[in-house]
Parts: sequence; C-alpha cells; structure tokens
Amino acid sequence: MTDYDSDNIFAKILRGEIPSNRVYEDDETLAFMDIMPRADGHVLVIPKSPCRNVLDATPEQLAVVIATVQKMAKAVKAAFDADGVTIQQFNEAAGGQEVFHLHFHVLPRHEGISMRPPGQMGDFDLIAEHADRIRSAQVG
Ligand code: 5GP
Repeated sequence: MTDYDSDNIFAKILRGEIPSNRVYEDDETLAFMDIMPRADGHVLVIPKSPCRNVLDATPEQLAVVIATVQKMAKAVKAAFDADGVTIQQFNEAAGGQEVFHLHFHVLPRHEGISMRPPGQMGDFDLIAEHADRIRSAQVG
C-alpha cells in the first residue's frame, strides 16, 4: 500500500481549496455531498486527519468516523423519508476506491428504487437543495 497523498481531492476539500456542500462537521470529521450522487442525498463522511482507508486508519479514526456515519444515516433517512440506508466503503483501487482519503458513502434508499450507476455528475442546484434538507433534518 502506498502512503497517504495530501493532494487527494478530499484533502483539498478539507483545506477549503475546492468547494463542497458541507452538511455536518465536528472537530474530527466532515460530511459533505457526493458530486456524483448514486441516490438523492448521497453523503460522504471523512476523518479530518489523514489516512487512505480502513487498512491504515487507527481505531480512533474509525471510531470518530463511524459515529458521524451513524448521525448522517439518521439525518438522510429523515430528510428523504427513506425506507432504509446503504453504507458503502471501498479500500484500494482493487477494492473499488477512487479517492484515497478514508470515506464512507451514506445513501438514503427507497423500496424498489435501485441506486444510479456510478460516475454520473449530479445537478449542482439539486445537490445544494438536498444538502439544505440534510442540514435541517439533523437532531442532537
Ligand atoms: P470511492 O473512492 O469510494 O470509489 O468514491 C469516491 C467518491 O467521491 C465518488 O462517489 C465520487 O462521486 C466522489 N467524488 C469524486 N470527486 C469528488 C469531488 O470533487 N467532490 C465531491 N463532493 N465528491 C467527489
């Protein structure tokens, strides 16, 4: 496994060098909208400290991230009146990972509706509207 590359796109988002739709943030984690949403309300959750994925993360990094994943799962379920929530996480290119900063995908799901294929750019205004809905839905 190669080392962490601090020029990856999520590191740039964390540093504010490229824009993102942030929906939740605390001292150790950040949640923001995926720009190629596979379902409306598709959120990504990342630690603020550097690691590539589950294979090099510390137990502490995993613990803080999963706590925010749970918060976001509840928030997207409420915001989209979803029937369920899919959580995905990929490790290294062979495992399906494309951005090498640890992240979890959180997707609200509705009965009988499949996820969209990967790699389709979402509508910027619609994603911003969905981000507002998720921010408003957060409790506690
Ligand atoms: P993975 O590494 O788990 O395969 O997926 C990376 C995810 O990051 C994809 O779902 C992709 O749509 C998303 N993504 C890639 N580039 C950007 C970006 O610049 N901004 C945001 N918000 N998401 C991105």
